[in-house]
Parts: sequence; C-alpha cells; structure tokens
Amino acid sequence: MSADSQILVVEDEATIRLIWERFLNRWGYQVDMAENGQVGLDRAREHAYRLIITDLAMPVLGGQELVRTLKAEQPDLEIIVTTGQGTIEIAVEMMKAGVSDFITKPINFGSAEYVIKKCLENVQAKRENIRLRRINRDLEELNKIKEKFIAITSHELRTPVSIIGNIVQALEPSMDGTEEASMIRMIGSASEQLREIVTEMHEISALNSEKISLQPSRFAFQPLCEEVDVEFQLVIEERGHRLNWYVPEHLSIRVDRAKIKKVLRELIQNAIKFTNDGGEITVRAANNENGEFELTVTDTGIGIPHDERKWIFGLFYEVSDTLHHHSSKSQFGGGGMGIGLAIVNDIVAAHQGRVTVDSEVGRGSRFRVTIPQPGPGSGA
Ligand code: ADP
Repeated sequence: MSADSQILVVEDEATIRLIWERFLNRWGYQVDMAENGQVGLDRAREHAYRLIITDLAMPVLGGQELVRTLKAEQPDLEIIVTTGQGTIEIAVEMMKAGVSDFITKPINFGSAEYVIKKCLENVQAKRENIRLRRINRDLEELNKIKEKFIAITSHELRTPVSIIGNIVQALEPSMDGTEEASMIRMIGSASEQLREIVTEMHEISALNSEKISLQPSRFAFQPLCEEVDVEFQLVIEERGHRLNWYVPEHLSIRVDRAKIKKVLRELIQNAIKFTNDGGEITVRAANNENGEFELTVTDTGIGIPHDERKWIFGLFYEVSDTLHHHSSKSQFGGGGMGIGLAIVNDIVAAHQGRVTVDSEVGRGSRFRVTIPQPGPGSGA
C-alpha cells in the first residue's frame, strides 16, 4: 500500500485488478488493490483515499455491504461501483445510498477514464467548498471578536478621556500666562483627538450591533447647510480652500436630519482632507426629476484610483498607507480610521438611497448621494 495512493480498487478477479492497475497508472493515478470487500474496508479505514472503485459481487464481504459501511463512516468519500448486466438495478440502488457513479462490465476503459476524472474533480470541488466554509466561519468569528473589542474599548475609554478633557478645561484659565499653559493646551488638543476617535469607535459598534434606526422628518435643507458651513469655516480658511454651496432656498426634504448632517459632514471632511491647500469644494443639493433628493460633494483633490473605489465604503479602508498620514483631521492627507464612508453608506442605505463616487486621480472626486422622497400626494 502506497502512502500517496489516491484510488483503491476492490475487485475479486485478479485479471481485472491487473487491468485496472495498468490503466489507472497510465492515467497518472497512484492506486491500491484489494481482493475482497473486507480487505477493501480495512484499507479504506487506514488510508484517506479520494476514490474507491468497487465490484459488487465478491466473496467475504460484498460491494453493497462495503458501500453501506463506508458511506456511514465517511459520508464524503466518493465511490464508483462496477457492475455486470445482471446487477444494474443494484447499482441504481447503490446510487441512492450515495455512490457517485457506476461503470458497467465489460469495462469500456475510454468512458471509465472520463467517469473517474469527473469523480475526482468532484472531490476537489467538495474539498474546496469545505475549506471555504471553514475560512468563512473563522472570518465570522474574527469579525465578532473585532466588534466586541471595539465595543469594549470604546466603552472603557470614554470615561478616562472625558475626565482628562474636563480637567484640562478646569486648569486652562488658571494657567494663562504661565510656562505650562502651552503644555496644557497640547494635552487639551490631544485629548480632543482621543475623544473623536472614541466617538468614532462607538459609532462603529453602534453600526455593528443594530440596524440604524431613523427618525425622519420634513425640514428645510438650507439651514442645515449653513450650520455645517459654520463648523468648517475655520478649517476652510486655514487650508485656503473655497467651499461653495448651491442649495435652493426652498429645498425641503424628508430624512433623518441628524444623520444626513453627519453624511454631509463626513463628505466635506474628506473633501477637505484629500484636496491640496487652496482647493475648491462644491456642495449641490436638489430634488431630481426621479423624485429623489440628490446631494453631491465635489472636490478638486487627489482623486481615487479606479480599482480602489469599490473598497472605500468598507470599514477601516484607506487608500493611502495608514501609517503615513497626519493625525490632524483637517490637514492635507489627514488621518482617520477609514470609517467615515462606511457610516455614510450605512446611513444612506437605511434611507433606501445609494451613494456613488466619480473620480479622476489628480483632478478630484464627486460623491453623490440619492435618497428617494415621498411623492407629492403622500402627505409626508
Ligand atoms: P477616513 O477616515 O480615512 O477619511 P473614509 O471612510 O471617510 O475614511 O474614507 C476612506 C478612504 O477613501 C480615505 O482614507 C481616502 O483614501 C478615500 N477618500 C475618501 N474621500 C475621498 C476624497 N474626497 N478624495 C480622495 N480620497 C478620498
């Protein structure tokens, strides 16, 4: 018995065994032989064959018994039975018991080669399938651990981070004019960065743990844009960008206000980060001819390579090397955790909408959000 054998032939007639061996070797298979069902069973228990070819009528232990025992012990094992004219019904019965195929005697070795090849391909596909299922199960497990880690860490970090922030706030006025004042300010800005990270982590675990719950209402969109414009004014000025708004004064939409504000903020934040100083960022909003609210944020920034575009909406994905970005969120190429667009995507999807991106490397990007709006007769 060879350690590399892939196929076991169980056949009581010595001449047929010899012919099988010749042909199988010629087709490139390593093969073992057994002269009856009992020897076949013992070998199949000792060695992991990819395929068993067995005769049906044999002394000591017949093929039917062998098949039933092996299928009970190794359900995934591929078995082909060889059968004479008189036992075709039994072969069909055997197929119901899990046999992969049968070959009639006298054996036509041309078609036998095809049947065996097909069977072994089947084995390969089954193994691949099992391997992929296992990988998938491991990935799901890893994902659960990751979600748990983020949830626990963000929860545990919240309190100390807010304590540091509060102490800095309390100390700042009394430090004015002292040597330590600038250090306290540095601690303040570092703890602010930490607070933002913790908030983002908390948002991810909220996304992970539940479907986003929406509180839609109808409201005028322009005032929301003004609020966002004020928030970014300082950064826009610092970076020498221009932030243009094209939002009709009477545009009213029905969405979750806080969540859409988050979407707009994330898109503008990215446009600021990924556009060289002195760039142009343009926000347009309107109800389009398909009855959808349409929002676009366009920048004149670095753009996104075509093959990266399908990844950027996934969690923790950043096009550039994460290790080389700045920690400031407003600087060119500034840092993030690669979650902004994942949040945008989930919020928009929760509104039954979609977000897409057009981009040209070196020229800029345009993110487009469309969200269906209730028809005029709906009263919403
Ligand atoms: P991050 O926290 O890194 O900004 P996002 O999920 O918001 O995470 O974005 C994922 C990645 O998509 C970014 O790291 C960046 O590589 C790319 N990206 C997003 N917006 C833009 C943009 N306006 N211009 C160029 N690249 C962008």
